[in-house]
Amino acid sequence: MLATPPAAAPVTLAIAGHPERFTVNRVFCLGRNYHWGAASAADHSAPPLFFMKPTSAVVEASGQVPFPPGTEEFCHEIELVVALAEGGFAIDPAQALGHVWGYAAGLDLTRRDLQTRAKAEGQSWEAAKAFDAAAPIGTLVPVAECGHPSAGEVWLNVNGEPRQRGDLAQMITPVAEAIALLSRYLLLQPGDLIMTGTPPGVAALQPGDVISAGVTGVGQLQVQVGPRL
Ligand code: MN
Repeated sequence: MLATPPAAAPVTLAIAGHPERFTVNRVFCLGRNYHWGAASAADHSAPPLFFMKPTSAVVEASGQVPFPPGTEEFCHEIELVVALAEGGFAIDPAQALGHVWGYAAGLDLTRRDLQTRAKAEGQSWEAAKAFDAAAPIGTLVPVAECGHPSAGEVWLNVNGEPRQRGDLAQMITPVAEAIALLSRYLLLQPGDLIMTGTPPGVAALQPGDVISAGVTGVGQLQVQVGPRL
């Protein structure tokens, strides 16, 4: 009999106030979904870009997150995370919110120096975005309990100092349109997560920094940056 590696354990997330767990399928991320101001080089007339993180990057946002190898510019990005109950292809934006299971606050942790180099050289973003524990996510809240938030502060503090401040109402591509957009490129599936982009104020982290962050009306999280690996 041919020996094959063991199957990876499913990745699951806690649900606020419920003992059940949400099984994560795939992780899609939107880029450039908030205006970062005139200093930003982003072209907001272009369609929103998306990229992925491996499911294995998802961890619960509590305790320590490791400082990843290979970077001198490890950055925070606080984002609204959309968790899908139903998939679909070419979803009508008017129907898209009906596919949502719930929401959470999450971090799109980024090796910014590697991303900057990738952009300059026209290379892919995987080295910047896809690493272990690159997506710490807070407890999920079912739609039945938080509705579909279209406004609410998206905030992040480091060691108690404000770093990121924005509002869901400032999203360039709101949640319904984001679901519809992704579903024009691929078949969305139950359990998929969509990280919806981050407001301005992203900055580098140091070992020992304490990140407190959240999305008002959805949830909040706190993690500490661990020592360099
Ligand atoms: Mn992001």
